[in-house]
Amino acid sequence: MKIVSTPAELKRVLKEQFKDKSVGFIPTMGALHEGHISLIKNARKDNDVVVASIFVNPTQFLKGEDLDKYPKKEEADKKICEISGVDILFYPNASDIYGEDEVSILAPKVRGYVLEGASRPGHFNGVLTVVMKLLNIVNPTRAYFGKKDAQQLNLITLMVKQFFMDVEIIPCDTVREKDGLAQSSRNVYLDATQRKEALKISASLYEASNMISKKILDVKQIRDKIVEILNPLEIIYVEILDREFNPIKEVQIGNSVILVEAKVGTTRLLDNIWI
Ligand code: AMP
Repeated sequence: MKIVSTPAELKRVLKEQFKDKSVGFIPTMGALHEGHISLIKNARKDNDVVVASIFVNPTQFLKGEDLDKYPKKEEADKKICEISGVDILFYPNASDIYGEDEVSILAPKVRGYVLEGASRPGHFNGVLTVVMKLLNIVNPTRAYFGKKDAQQLNLITLMVKQFFMDVEIIPCDTVREKDGLAQSSRNVYLDATQRKEALKISASLYEASNMISKKILDVKQIRDKIVEILNPLEIIYVEILDREFNPIKEVQIGNSVILVEAKVGTTRLLDNIWI
């Protein structure tokens, strides 16, 4: 596996050594876990060359968020990438990605400011800006994103479409711990008691799916049940929407998503299921 740190070097390597090959790309912020590995494995299956990036993007953290304490596991991450089949690991510094007086991409005024964007206004400006930059640097055939970050996936898909970008966005299923907790780099913030409390999030989604399989499709009824199970966690949102993120009154099987964000201690955890 080759490790490169500058956009110019990455472009040169891709041009000189991998010309005319299909390229699969997995952008990450590191502290890699099974979720990231499944994205890498999907990319390995579909493409000649696999490029992953590790970059804790400062512009997507708001003031007071966990940028400085975001988990860093450089050596372990490099090993995981190598073992999982990454050919090129892009590991830039912030100064390789950002300059002064930057052009930036703005998240859409409605879809970028609901759900996670409501409590983190501006977060998706940073996400879309860095993803645009990374896609332009790597110029991949396909880029892989987790359904766990459903709103992020939705906005990136929208950006690629609206900016006529030549990349296929591949959504990948959420990888969970055996007990149901969605894998996340932020799970390391949880102590043993919080780890147990966090299970209420996936449990609430499983119960929702159970109700739906019993033909209970009323959104209010399902939402109330989720809220009850999440108690006493601090709920940031519980939403039941169609796959385009529009409000619905009844769950439509094959076209709905249930999204939850809750705080366990000071850690914000996201999860969702696609119905
Ligand atoms: P992050 O390092 O948190 O920015 O995540 C990098 C990519 O991995 C994003 O596309 C995430 O949606 C995806 N991802 C994170 N956690 C999981 C998971 N548990 N299952 C599948 N994909 C995930």
